[in-house]
Amino acid sequence: MISGRWIMFYSSLVTDCYRLPTTDHRFSRKVSPMSHIYAQLNPGKRVLMGPGPSDVHPRVLQAMIAPLVGHLDPYFLKVMDETKALLQYVFETTNEFAIPVSGTGSAGMETCLCNLIEPGDEVVVCVGGYFADRMCQMVERCGGRLIRMAGAWGKPFAPDEIAKRLQTCHPKLVAIVHAETSTGVLQPLDEIAHVVHEHGALFLVDTVASLGGAHVKVDAWGIDACYSGSQKCLSCPPGLAPLTLNDRAMSAIQNRKTKVQSWYFDMSLVKNYWGGDRVYHHTAPVNMNYALREALLIVYEEGLEHGIARHALNYRAFKAGIEAMGLKFFVDEPYRAPMINPILAPDGIDELKVRRRLLTEYGIEIGGGLGALKGKAWRVGLMGQSSSKDHVLLFLSALEQVLRAEGHRVKDSGVTAASGVYSV
Ligand SMILES: *Cc1c(COP(=O)(O)O)cnc(C)c1O
Repeated sequence: MISGRWIMFYSSLVTDCYRLPTTDHRFSRKVSPMSHIYAQLNPGKRVLMGPGPSDVHPRVLQAMIAPLVGHLDPYFLKVMDETKALLQYVFETTNEFAIPVSGTGSAGMETCLCNLIEPGDEVVVCVGGYFADRMCQMVERCGGRLIRMAGAWGKPFAPDEIAKRLQTCHPKLVAIVHAETSTGVLQPLDEIAHVVHEHGALFLVDTVASLGGAHVKVDAWGIDACYSGSQKCLSCPPGLAPLTLNDRAMSAIQNRKTKVQSWYFDMSLVKNYWGGDRVYHHTAPVNMNYALREALLIVYEEGLEHGIARHALNYRAFKAGIEAMGLKFFVDEPYRAPMINPILAPDGIDELKVRRRLLTEYGIEIGGGLGALKGKAWRVGLMGQSSSKDHVLLFLSALEQVLRAEGHRVKDSGVTAASGVYSV
């Protein structure tokens, strides 16, 4: 029989496990007396509907707690091979080189730019928003001669516009963002590669926000280099940057006159770990890779085509709801990215206050405006697992309540309009 005294003893052991060093006097002089009691991690439940991260399927979190093995363990090598095949599937490519770079989406951006640019190379960046601007900053840090092709926020680039600009320069690389998360534009890509290749340049595309939620036809569209992020439409926690390079891009790296200035992101080194000889380069974040494999597997099981159709359907329902409520999108159709939607805050409504209330009263996270949209818009993400009927209806009803509470006269019920789309 277990007596009360034993229970107290055991329970004190258990609670002590969750406390960090208790009576180590070496530390106690520097640290205030109560500071050694840390609460257990308990972030609470959130509904992630911002510009990323998106909600993660429980299977992905489960995969992260699978036993750790070494980064050269035969089991992990198999995980790597499967991840590569799944990446080829989502990138719609037969490229031999398809890997997750260790780091977030920006690490994928940096990898592409620092491997493909040598000091003095001309690089055209089509800038229609915040993330293309980030590319510009990286091009300059790589020593590239930046040709900034400025477009309007909220508008895509036309192929002729790019063709015209290419008549006056000789870039090695032309870079563009597919789904510009800051503006909500989905840039059509099918005709641009042709224009870029005619001028002998490589074509680089940022698909951080689009991969898994819209087609990214790397081969059919002629994309030479393409990177993404794990935490947007792939619905994996942040930490890996899927990337693919075709033979043209690989030989551009092979034929460099100078070494890639970043040792960590030098793909001529990393490729020997992900392929061929499995030479140690850096310790792969093993459990993050488990997570990405699982997230990709979920995309594969649903079917890419089906998943993309789901993103489109949820966008249509969301749009019906937003319009019924009398609210306006920032981007005109047909250029809206279905996975990220800037909505203009109505006059007299404090954008930040609404966002805070959604978080504290409903547990819903959405994004605020970036750059030109700062303080003026909400950015609502319908990415990956967060692109669902539940998310759309919950968000519309919460927004309606918050707007009413803030004194805004909401036109009609967003939930009713969105439900109508689902019922046909
Ligand atoms: C989120 C995002 C990035 C940056 O990715 P991080 O994971 O934050 O480093 C780059 N480009 C686009 C289009 C994005 O949406």
